[in-house]
Amino acid sequence: MKTLSYDPLYLFIDGRWLDAEGRDTVAVVNPATNAVLGRLPLADASDLDRALAAAERGFATWRRTAPAERARILKASADLMRERVEHIATLMTLEEGKPLVESRDEVLRAADYFEWFAEEARRIDGRVVPANRPGVLQLVKREPIGPVAAFTPWNFPAITPARKLSAALAAGCSVIIKPGEESPAAALALARALDDAGLPKGVLQVVFGVPDAVSSQLIASPVIRKVAFTGSMPVGRLLAERAAAGVKPITLELGGHGPVLVFRDADLDAAAVGGAANRFRGTGQICISSTRFLVQRDIYPRFTERFVAATRALVVGDGLDASTQVGPLANARQLAKMESLVEDAVRQGARLLTGGKRIPGPGYFFEPTVLADVPMSARVMHEEPFGPIAVLRPFDGLDDALTEANRLPYGLSAYAFTRDARTAIDVADGLEAGMIGINQYRIVATELPFGGMKESGIGSEGGAEGIHHYLVNKFISQI
Ligand code: NAD
Repeated sequence: MKTLSYDPLYLFIDGRWLDAEGRDTVAVVNPATNAVLGRLPLADASDLDRALAAAERGFATWRRTAPAERARILKASADLMRERVEHIATLMTLEEGKPLVESRDEVLRAADYFEWFAEEARRIDGRVVPANRPGVLQLVKREPIGPVAAFTPWNFPAITPARKLSAALAAGCSVIIKPGEESPAAALALARALDDAGLPKGVLQVVFGVPDAVSSQLIASPVIRKVAFTGSMPVGRLLAERAAAGVKPITLELGGHGPVLVFRDADLDAAAVGGAANRFRGTGQICISSTRFLVQRDIYPRFTERFVAATRALVVGDGLDASTQVGPLANARQLAKMESLVEDAVRQGARLLTGGKRIPGPGYFFEPTVLADVPMSARVMHEEPFGPIAVLRPFDGLDDALTEANRLPYGLSAYAFTRDARTAIDVADGLEAGMIGINQYRIVATELPFGGMKESGIGSEGGAEGIHHYLVNKFISQI
């Protein structure tokens, strides 16, 4: 395995790359080895004031920049991200731990969002509405909402910032983004590509800091007109309250506990072998992951056997190693959480079919874990595991399956496997989820809206819908 270098870390404010000189710092750690990769400068209150002032000036410039020019810069940044895919993917694997093949895929998909929204920038049109009186011209315009404060987590260090930045910048907004402090280099690499592509200074600032201090200062500022967050429900609620105090709209993506309904006529390999691959992808730290496998009772034993065999075959290791399929967890918090969820489920009567333990040695490794017949009282039936744990339970009929699938306040992703068209239609109709895969797990696409129902979030990112949150309506009635 090669020893690879990590980029120096900065804040990016008003077109300047600011280093750690005179600032507090926090260590960024490789979760596969516990090695310190670098020190991340943290913004203080005066840095954030500078970022706000720059975003205000940046907005004044960018909102008047022709959509075609905005599109040109975003498209050029996408090309640079693609050229730099190996470098950015390596940074991401070092700081987040996912296998290099997944990091590459994520960088390329992040670039696709910039290209998609570059094209959407040119289609922000309005309406001419016939008036009730003669001689009156009524126009409806859609304008950029204003400077955006965006907050993204550590699990998808490139694509989550990309979904927010690409749409907001295409709309003509300026942005201050605070990516996760645990995996900061990928977002900085996207900012570098935008800077190199000619984004005017002040249009984008990237800051890191004490998360609560950063969000309270930014959201309270009158400069900020829109908030976007991806992360946990408690933090999402907190930021929604702060945004509400200033009557600022917020887009939220807050995770899920994705049910998978496997009916007796399903393609069992697609459901079980594909299910294990999907459940443990990203070490299970994926908000749209398939987590609760609900299997029709008569095929439950066969499904379980294949699922467990496929889980045992997964290769766990450092993401830089080409054979690795499952990397480490992102941090020590996640390790402790997995141990406690497994211990609780087993104590309450779940059958531990494989895994269940930390893997000794350096790094935050946890065995891919399958729990069957998990009692409804177990915590893992209620809390998003956000790690390498799959839970399996049998069901009898469609109604039972839908009741269990929709039981939780989450409504992000859901999946179903059946060869029967009637069942597929009824299931898709009955599932309370923003994103549904029928007979497949890999469902996300640039051109589709990504977002949840119920407490999983507000609004969606990506697709033709993704730009609307960054626009406001204005009508002009003219005689
Ligand atoms: P968290 O919500 O505390 O942190 C997620 C991100 O939000 C981090 O980047 C963090 O810096 C930021 N954050 C935290 N507090 C903040 C605040 N007051 N203001 C602004 N930003 C803030 O989650 P975590 O401890 O990193 O992970 C715990 C759980 O969160 C996970 O187990 C999972 O359930 C959920 N999570 C969901 C996603 C997702 O994609 N929806 C991503 C990460 C974590």
